[in-house]
Amino acid sequence: MSIFRSVSLSPPKESELEIVVFGPGYGESVLLHIPGVGWGVIDSCIVKDGQKKVVPALEYLAELYGDNPPELAFIILTHPHEDHYAGMDKMITEHPGGVRLICRYNGLGLPELCKLLVAENMSNRIESSPGLLRVFRAMDEAANKDNVAERYLAEMTEVISSSEIQLPGFTDVTVRMVALCPSSRSMTDWFAQITSLFPARGEIQKSISPRLHNQISAALYLQFGQVHVVFGGDVEIGNDSRTGWQGVMNAPGRPDLEANYVKVAHHGSVTGFYPPAWQEHAKNSKPIGVITPWSLASNSLPTGEDLKRLATWCDPLYITRRSKANNVGPSQSRGKAKKRISWDVRSWHDAPEPELPLNFLRVRFLPNGEVTEITSPSPTLRISRGMTAATPNNSG
Ligand SMILES: [Zn+2]
Repeated sequence: MSIFRSVSLSPPKESELEIVVFGPGYGESVLLHIPGVGWGVIDSCIVKDGQKKVVPALEYLAELYGDNPPELAFIILTHPHEDHYAGMDKMITEHPGGVRLICRYNGLGLPELCKLLVAENMSNRIESSPGLLRVFRAMDEAANKDNVAERYLAEMTEVISSSEIQLPGFTDVTVRMVALCPSSRSMTDWFAQITSLFPARGEIQKSISPRLHNQISAALYLQFGQVHVVFGGDVEIGNDSRTGWQGVMNAPGRPDLEANYVKVAHHGSVTGFYPPAWQEHAKNSKPIGVITPWSLASNSLPTGEDLKRLATWCDPLYITRRSKANNVGPSQSRGKAKKRISWDVRSWHDAPEPELPLNFLRVRFLPNGEVTEITSPSPTLRISRGMTAATPNNSG
């Protein structure tokens, strides 16, 4: 039985862009069907199916296509955090359809750097967990043995580009996906900080703050006909006008970031929220917003305040899972503060978590911008003013 149990899945139509976001509570993965290009994935996560650990994007494709799934036109790793890379090695080595192009954040140039990251992130878990090292190994092997194309992602790196695609009912559709960041300045800063952490002879390993790596997270921009999508990765505001979202907005030659759909950056946190970027996303109409939560130990993102803020910029706003910790954020105390925010998070906070194997949010677009479908197995995931319980279309 599949991890999607209750939901019957069907493939998109030839003309439909499909965006499926998995965010099981810790982990984020986006599966895309892009007409004229094929299927692709941005980031990876794993979930438990009984005793087995499985990769949601692969399970989803297996559900649609059985033993004969299509090739993945691209796999993208935005940055070196476990909640974005877990299972990517499986995706590369075990997907029966194979992979055409592997893109990764631009940050693995130095073997020493790799060792440092591995020492920090992996220590004793190398052989037992789907760690970064396994992902790197799988990427290298795919490139060496199977001639899979590779590309580092930096600002304005093109991932895919096709014009004049002919689709049923639509002619000359343009498809283009580019990375919006990291900027050259973000890379330079990051390298400087990382290298300053190398231990001198006889010293022990200095510790790296995991958040350091968000500086080099890629964000992506996809144009599909009149549909514009921003995949925010874990990009944060940045340290100055040339880094993070500030750097994106100041980059010469960048695309207009008006958007029909935004995968909200950095799990909805305030550090990933840069108002000028959102002003542009929502310039003509509010985009569909999708948040994957981040929940580990007692910490969780987004907070209730985060949801409240994002609900004013998105219509509708979705979260792929209610917080595991069953709270509205780490710093909300009882009483007033909690009451104040409850209006927009109740459907997230109070609704019982359904016994779902795996939740996801699927949105389909036609090239003219029309939304043909929004599907989620759970009705509790929509966050909006007035506490309207969402009833996403559950069929198909
Ligand atoms: Zn993350």
